[in-house]
Order: sequence, then C-alpha cells, then structure tokens
Amino acid sequence: MVAAGPDVVPVAKGNGYGFGLRQLAAEAERLDVPVLAVGTAAEVGEVRETFHGDLVVLQPWRPADPDAVALTGDPRVISTVTRVEDVPAVAAAGERPRVVLELRTSMRRHGLDVAEARAAVEAADGAEVEGWTIHLPLLTEGRMEEARELAALAQSVRPGPLWISHLTPTEAGTLASELDVPVRLRLGTSLWLGRPGLLTTTATVLDVHRVRRGERVGYRQRRVLKDGWVLVLAGGTAHGVGLEAPTSAASPRARAVSLATGGLAAVGRALSPYTVAGRKRWFLEPPHMQSSMVLLPADAQPPAVGDTVPVQLRLTTAVVDRVVDA
Ligand SMILES: *Cc1c(COP(=O)(O)O)cnc(C)c1O
Repeated sequence: MVAAGPDVVPVAKGNGYGFGLRQLAAEAERLDVPVLAVGTAAEVGEVRETFHGDLVVLQPWRPADPDAVALTGDPRVISTVTRVEDVPAVAAAGERPRVVLELRTSMRRHGLDVAEARAAVEAADGAEVEGWTIHLPLLTEGRMEEARELAALAQSVRPGPLWISHLTPTEAGTLASELDVPVRLRLGTSLWLGRPGLLTTTATVLDVHRVRRGERVGYRQRRVLKDGWVLVLAGGTAHGVGLEAPTSAASPRARAVSLATGGLAAVGRALSPYTVAGRKRWFLEPPHMQSSMVLLPADAQPPAVGDTVPVQLRLTTAVVDRVVDA
C-alpha cells in the first residue's frame, strides 16, 4: 500500500490495532515513511524513540491538554488545529509550532468551516502551516465528491498539502493529480488489518475439568446445564475478550428469539469468541480479567492443557500477550 499510494501516513493510535503502538512505530520505521500519525499527544512518547520521523497528532490541539501544550514547538511534532481561537494560542505556546488546519467535513466532529478557515490562516503568522486536514466519514457514497469540494476550497484559501483520511490510495492519487497538490493519506485499519486472512488470534487452554449437570462453577457459582467439561481459556476482559460494539436494537430481539427457542442466551449465557472442537462455545460466566470459563458438552473431544484454540478478537479493542511471525 505504501508503494502504490500517494504519501502514506500510517496511523498508530489507541491499542495499536492489536499490535501495540511500539510495534507499529517499528513497522513505520521499517517502511521508511517520513511521518507517523498518533491519536493523542500522550501517545507521542510511546513512539518517538522507535520511529524517527515526524509525528502528527490527530486529536485537536487544545490549550487545556498539558501533553499537547508541552509538545508545541517540538520540531518533530505537527499539531492539528481545529478552532480559530486555538491558532494564536498554539503560536504562543511554542517556537513556530508546526500545524495542520482541519476542515469540518460531513462527519461534523472537529474542524473549521470556510469562513473560519480563512480567519485561521490570517491568524497563523506565528505558526508553520503544513497543510489542510480532511477527515471523511467511512461511507463510500459521495465521499470522493466531498473530498474534491473541500480540497478545492482549502486550496483557494491557502495552497498546501492535503492530509486525508478514508479515501482509497487510488482515490487519493486521483485527488493529488486533479488538484496538483501533495496528498498525504492516513491509513490505519486498512494498512494494519487490511488482509484479515494473514492474521490469526489464538488462546491457550489453561485448564480442563469434567463437570456434571447441576454442579456449580465459577465466581458466580452458577449451575452447569449439562454434562461436559469446564475449559479455562487464556484471555479475559483485560485482553478485550467479550467486548463488542454496541448493538442497538438487536439485543432485545435476539433475546426474544433466544427465549422462544430455549437458547442459553435466555438464561443469561453468552456465546464466547472461542472455537473449540469446531464450534463457538458458551461462556459459563462473564470473562474474568485474564481468563474465561466456557462449557464444552460431553459429546465433544476436549483439548489438552497447553493446546491453542482460535479466538475471535476485534483487533481495534484487543490487547494480546504476544505477536508472532508464523
Ligand atoms: C483513526 C484515524 C484514522 C485512521 O482510521 P482507520 O479507519 O483506522 O484507517 C485516520 N484519520 C484520523 C483523523 C483518525 O482519527
């Protein structure tokens, strides 16, 4: 992707897309890109010893963020400015700080409208403006048109590089040649996790115990509903096991369906992300901090202690113990 696209700015933020910030910083260093993006000013310290190029902070610069203020004027750091009143504040906080100005997109999250963009440019004497940033929504439809429109507006206010999110490398290349300006394409998920088949996540079997129907198990001492094995598997809340995106209206309906069909979810059981002997298995109770208890029915072949089993993890919320090259 780095070779194919315009200037790619890898994004290393949050949990580091499952790999951790340092590993992504090392990867960016290996890719030999000039700039790495981090989410917050607080994350700069996590990557700056590993990655030696410039660091752009995606979260808007605010005078009340002590980490952001401390980095203002650091020659390697580029701050994102999203409000007119922050322009003089950022300029006053450091020696000719490097900034990018963010335009407000249909996301309506942060950023300047056109009039504010003009005012920001006029107020930016004390800062080194490194271009415009445009953060588009994930929706495909209308995305390129919006990018074109905002990019052209930005160029009419002040010519400069465009820092863009959520276009494909091809779209970003098109934009760069249409407007004849450098485009820096910020990539996170599609760069690090774009080919899911290349990644597998597994959990170690920590313990296996025979149980009979009606016996009590776990912190909550719930009764087991059928004969089988208690499997104690590595991975708990600290790893992001059992974390799901909010499902809005799906849950009550799912619950009703489950009640009607006599499913385990109706009695408060949840399907776990662990696959054992070919199927996802039910949690016996909510995941613990670093391990989870699931039930394997008696008719299945139990794994051995030390075996690994597949576990489905959302890598933008997961923290793994080890990353290995297979
Ligand atoms: C997180 C973030 C990205 C990367 O998003 P992905 O969907 O992971 O590619 C790009 N731009 C901005 C401004 C972001 O905050």
